[in-house]
Amino acid sequence: MTAATGPPETMADRRTELTPMLRQYFELCVDHPDALVLFQVGDFYEAFCEAAETVARICEVTLTKREDSTGSYPMAGVPIDNAASSLDRLVDAGYRVAIADQVEDAAEANGLVDRAVTRVLTPGTVVDEELLAAGTTNYVATVVSAGDRDGGSEPDSERTATDADGDDARTDETATDGFALAALDVSTGECLVTSVSTRTAVEAELDRLSPAELLVADDAPTVTPESAGTWTESVVDADRFDLARATDRLGAYTAADRLASDAERRACGAVLAYGEYTQGDDAPLEYVSRIQRYDRRDSLAFDAAARRSLELFESRSPNSSATLFETVDQTASALGRRCLTRWLRQPLVDRERIEQRLDAVEALVADGVVRERLHDQLGAAYDLERLAGRISRRRANGRDLRALKRTLDIVPELDETLSGLAAFESYRDRLDPLDDCATLIDDAIVSDPPAELTEGGVINPSFDSDLDALRSTERAGRNWIAELEASERERTGIDSLSVGHTQVHGYYIEVTNPNLDRVPDDYTRRQTLKNSERFYTPELKRREDEILGAAERADSLEYDLFCDVRDRVAAETDRIQALARVVGELDALCSLATAAAVGDYVRPSFQPPDSRELTIEGGRHPVVETTRESFVPNDTDLAAGEVAIITGPNMSGKSTYMRQVALISVLAQIGSFVPAEAARLPIFDRIFTRVGASDDIAGGESTFMREMSELTAILHDATDRSLVLLDEVGRGTSTTDGAAIARATTEFIHDELDAITLFATHYHELTTLADERAGVFNLHFAATREDDDVTFLHRIVRGPSGASYGIEVAELAGVPPAVVSRAREVVDESNTVDPAESTTVGDGSESSATGDGSEPITAGDGSASASAGSDTATNTRPTPSDAPAATDAEAVAEALAAIDIARMTPIEALNTLDELQSAIDDR
Ligand code: ADP
Ligand code: MG
Repeated sequence: MTAATGPPETMADRRTELTPMLRQYFELCVDHPDALVLFQVGDFYEAFCEAAETVARICEVTLTKREDSTGSYPMAGVPIDNAASSLDRLVDAGYRVAIADQVEDAAEANGLVDRAVTRVLTPGTVVDEELLAAGTTNYVATVVSAGDRDGGSEPDSERTATDADGDDARTDETATDGFALAALDVSTGECLVTSVSTRTAVEAELDRLSPAELLVADDAPTVTPESAGTWTESVVDADRFDLARATDRLGAYTAADRLASDAERRACGAVLAYGEYTQGDDAPLEYVSRIQRYDRRDSLAFDAAARRSLELFESRSPNSSATLFETVDQTASALGRRCLTRWLRQPLVDRERIEQRLDAVEALVADGVVRERLHDQLGAAYDLERLAGRISRRRANGRDLRALKRTLDIVPELDETLSGLAAFESYRDRLDPLDDCATLIDDAIVSDPPAELTEGGVINPSFDSDLDALRSTERAGRNWIAELEASERERTGIDSLSVGHTQVHGYYIEVTNPNLDRVPDDYTRRQTLKNSERFYTPELKRREDEILGAAERADSLEYDLFCDVRDRVAAETDRIQALARVVGELDALCSLATAAAVGDYVRPSFQPPDSRELTIEGGRHPVVETTRESFVPNDTDLAAGEVAIITGPNMSGKSTYMRQVALISVLAQIGSFVPAEAARLPIFDRIFTRVGASDDIAGGESTFMREMSELTAILHDATDRSLVLLDEVGRGTSTTDGAAIARATTEFIHDELDAITLFATHYHELTTLADERAGVFNLHFAATREDDDVTFLHRIVRGPSGASYGIEVAELAGVPPAVVSRAREVVDESNTVDPAESTTVGDGSESSATGDGSEPITAGDGSASASAGSDTATNTRPTPSDAPAATDAEAVAEALAAIDIARMTPIEALNTLDELQSAIDDR
């Protein structure tokens, strides 16, 4: 609660004296203590007192006052017709906004107009089309700890730490302990529940769903993840999570009995109750027609780090928006976009389902004509999921029903388009044209209805005989009036006589002053103007009343008829939602087929379950290849239990190569073709990635600690069906430690896990592991060097890399020629003096790659001469102060030469530059 929420103090003090309207406002604030109440006054939403100040500031509107006998109150308002952007700002600023609408017609009200909170806007529960991005999901979620039954401590989050072999971890991850997570999309009625056993898994799930709002109780039993997400945290009463209350709430929903634990019931009951609360009347959300319990082991899991570093949905580079999603998203409709999002968030592990999607994609890849026709037809589909939500919440207008009808119209077309394709038979079976609804809407609703529901013009007159009678009375009256001018002119002989209408006075007959003497006796004066008088006759009055009466009754009958039609359509919500799903799937499949055709992808095949080999011929990175003029394809050939150590100069393509293997697997498991010439893949259960700290500086979490805790998760959770990508692990610490950790990690992965592992590293020491472990082998990226010029071939080759070309990269980066040539001298000198010292210039020496400094380095073994050598060189980063006392230029050059650019973070580089510069300045 902030000053802007809850009842304003100034009003509380004068509570009994307040004018009726302000008392009403005050009471609504009391009823919604944690929301900012916006109070309809005519065409405006107004806020008062502290709330007014907040609204004025955030929405940039003028702060005014309302004065009455009890005092003066700050007031600020936004026009209702144009409220969306203001509401958006308030919600963005973290407010829950309670909309108190006038719920009776001001004209009919007896004194004070009745007002009620019709909905509460929160980030995770908005349903307004203007406030939601198209084709997205918008979840409010919560996490409940199962171990907190009695308000006690949390379950041991490391419970499954020892279950690295996989199968035990599975049985442990049941619904009976750990954490329950529930998520609800109020706009579509999608409700998801799952249980996971560890906190890491909670974070991964939240990261996957990326809810807009996370409910946390002011007390146990909810759980807040350690790493902040993109969601808004909403503190709610712990009562909402009370088991009895939650269970009671769930009673209104079907399939609630499928929930597996008390924690799931609490979590699910709480989000549903919250969703109901935001819709104004706390009534069950009828369009939540199923509560979907899912098990995250039924899909390919990513840790949060993997999702980010693979750039599935968000690009990590600030000047590019290229993501895997954007690359394969060729959808034509919001339904398709949302479906594809769900698929990519949750790739499959069930081979049959994958193959079913692939069959469909293949059929569309093969037939471009059908594919394009399908795409065009799908483009006409409205967002049925949100439409169904609006219809069921009784918020749909005539236009929404017409939009539904237009979408239903394409169903037979889709069916026809797909009729020749065997792979689509099961999809076609699910294409329910909802003929009953379509006919009803077509009969009842005019083809181009207004947005307003209470002013008539929505219902076809032929739909209802009473309406028809009223409208024809109205019409007859109007026709009579239309002819009145002519007949009265004839009767009176006044040629200038005219008939008109004003909003205030109604119909009149106007006669100019010179003709007043010819006015008949049955004219009654209504209004005097400067040059004329206005009259009415008893017959005109009678007709006018008749017209008005009929029109008014017709408008209200239309409203009732509309509500009835809407209710009848709402009764079919399940079917509309089922149709929405299949249309979304068709669009997603069509999208994948288009991406495959455009990108020249191939259908992947899967290895039999007992063989876990991965073979990719001519694989490409689906995203990078679209951003570059040419892309060099590379092969991959790996089996479970194998570890590929990838070395090569900076910028040669190591990271790209590893990610392309993961992305190809992800695409395959959503049922997509893949960017390669051929791919035979295992079905992975999880993909882990760990990107070395310094590579992750853009993410703002470049701490070695984080790197290590993510590594911990990998070492604990990876199974023999996992894909593990390690990119420069160990980089965030000293060379000795880093190399030691890298080595120990590789040994552990090789010896203990049977995963498929790719490890890109600048620690050449690691390449010797290939001689010691059967499953470890070396790959590297070659570069050609001609007269000190380096060309990266981006082509992967067997064996360890020869050099890291650090100096060439420095040159490419624009380091002044004098420094570069001096650096070369230093390298040459140190190479001739003592090979063991070659590491002083990082990986820039040929000798380190041939295995010279290759004595196994283990933590605590700092005495080995090779590692001691590298320790002094790079562990203590040279600064001007400890550079040899020579001339300044030499000192700086030497310091520069000793820097290993490949091992620096951008910030370290800047700091070092700064130090070097100040060394010169000190002269
Ligand atoms: P590393 O991890 O070895 O430092 P990256 O994978 O980050 O290298 O790649 C460096 C640059 O090279 C990237 O910007 C990418 O655009 C380009 N690149 C990588 N692989 C290829 C390839 N196979 N074909 C063409 N360009 C590539
Ligand atoms: Mg890299």
